[in-house]
Amino acid sequence: MVMMSSGLKDSLSYKIDEKTYQEFPDKWEKRIKEEGLSNKFILINKEPELWVFLGEHGDHLLLSKNDSAIYCSCKGFRMEIEKKTNKGCTHIYALKIAKKFNKFRDISEKINNQELNKIIEEIMELDYSSYLRTILIKFS
Ligand SMILES: [Zn+2]
Repeated sequence: MVMMSSGLKDSLSYKIDEKTYQEFPDKWEKRIKEEGLSNKFILINKEPELWVFLGEHGDHLLLSKNDSAIYCSCKGFRMEIEKKTNKGCTHIYALKIAKKFNKFRDISEKINNQELNKIIEEIMELDYSSYLRTILIKFS
């Protein structure tokens, strides 16, 4: 009983904020740089700050707070949460590089709420937004 309740307490107190993801495993470095400079990050909303990464295995939705990404919808991020390793995923760190070197596209001012919702819904349901691609072509 004691073990169960402390385990439950641990899981409830598990918290992520902008200070959580500061260090990544060395083996991630190459991929983080590639993703960060790939121009595949799209800013879709400013407040709250929402990003999409156009990944090889689908689109990932990222939430950023005070200049640090704190959530990514990719499988890797979910696995790290389950392992409680607190490392996040490569996209979390790659976004910092993309912002630093201005390697991203900003469509946040060009889409309305309805379009924003459509993109988010497609990614949550299908891990892929064809609507976002239509918009990107329109504004390219
Ligand atoms: Zn990710």
